[in-house]
Amino acid sequence: MIKKLRVLALIVCLFLVILSPSLVQAQGELTILDSAAQTEFPAKLNFNLSAQSEVNITDIRLHYVVDQLSHAQVTSEVYIEFAPATMVEVGWNWDMRRTGGLPPGSGLEYWWTVEDAKRDKVETAPVRVQFDDTRYPWRSITEGEVTIYWYQGDESFAQELMTTAQEALARLAEDTGAYLEKPVKAYIYASARDLQGSLIYPQEWTGGVAFTRHGIIAIGIAPNELDWGKRAMTHELTHLVIHQMVFNPYNDLPNWLDEGLAMYNEGALSPQQAAFLNKAIVEGSLISVRSLASPFSAYAEQAILAYTQSYSLVEFLITNYGSDKMLELLNTFKLGSSYDGALEKVYGFNMDGLNNLWRDYVTKQYQPSITEQMIQPALVG
Ligand SMILES: [Zn+2]
Repeated sequence: MIKKLRVLALIVCLFLVILSPSLVQAQGELTILDSAAQTEFPAKLNFNLSAQSEVNITDIRLHYVVDQLSHAQVTSEVYIEFAPATMVEVGWNWDMRRTGGLPPGSGLEYWWTVEDAKRDKVETAPVRVQFDDTRYPWRSITEGEVTIYWYQGDESFAQELMTTAQEALARLAEDTGAYLEKPVKAYIYASARDLQGSLIYPQEWTGGVAFTRHGIIAIGIAPNELDWGKRAMTHELTHLVIHQMVFNPYNDLPNWLDEGLAMYNEGALSPQQAAFLNKAIVEGSLISVRSLASPFSAYAEQAILAYTQSYSLVEFLITNYGSDKMLELLNTFKLGSSYDGALEKVYGFNMDGLNNLWRDYVTKQYQPSITEQMIQPALVG
């Protein structure tokens, strides 16, 4: 046993000599003694560094790059405040409550640059940090580009969600031509409360979130809420696929299209949602397509109507003009087109034109007038 330990010690020493030339530098030179990062999900990420030199260390900066879709690599640089000395220990806490949070499973790379009064400069090698939610004992399954993480419920619970995810991807590809371009991680919390505990600024109704730039979904699904969970999985996954597909530096999607595709991929409206739409038609309180391009109302009733109308708009476009046109529309948005410009190019009408055509369509669909009911049998015949 002792012998083994000695051999191990020798191996460790050899590795240190080979891998860390800085540790065998002549004393006095600018040297990094230690560097570490520690996560406190979801609120904090703490970085620490100690360094020494024969003259005062005068400048220390932390650099990091978060893994996410971006148009150019965005490196954040943090100037560390400290009193110049030959031996320094510094730390910096990334307080997510001030900046907004990172999702579970997100990652980043960081490195330090340190300079002393002789203008000697050291840059540490980049180190990866995973910002994982270590409060739960996650298990995972992977199929294709999708990995599902969960901690409550048995294997079949996760497998059912995986089947739903794969079916949702297949359906979306068929209806719109959109497909997943990058891997996705789906974190299934055991309740809406657990999910909200993982978010920095949760809204009380948040049941699922798509972190589209990170390729991460987080949903709260209790094992006995699987039916709701399957819809939520489909909905959030659709957001990810669509965002990956149309990602461009100029413009994003109108909200009705983004939410409408997610709703449409879930399947038919629930009777309750359909009743909302019907009521708005009867009362003449439909929201205009142009208003639905912006973020939806925070008021529950208006928000539900906005979602159901978005579903109906997408259903109208796909049913009447086909999935090829929907693919063309998404590809046009990918080029950074304006909302009106993309619709005009693909369908020949802008948002107001869509508004008029869709109102006719949906009014007939939900409230056939007496005249139409009388005419229809004749037409069918
Ligand atoms: Zn949504």
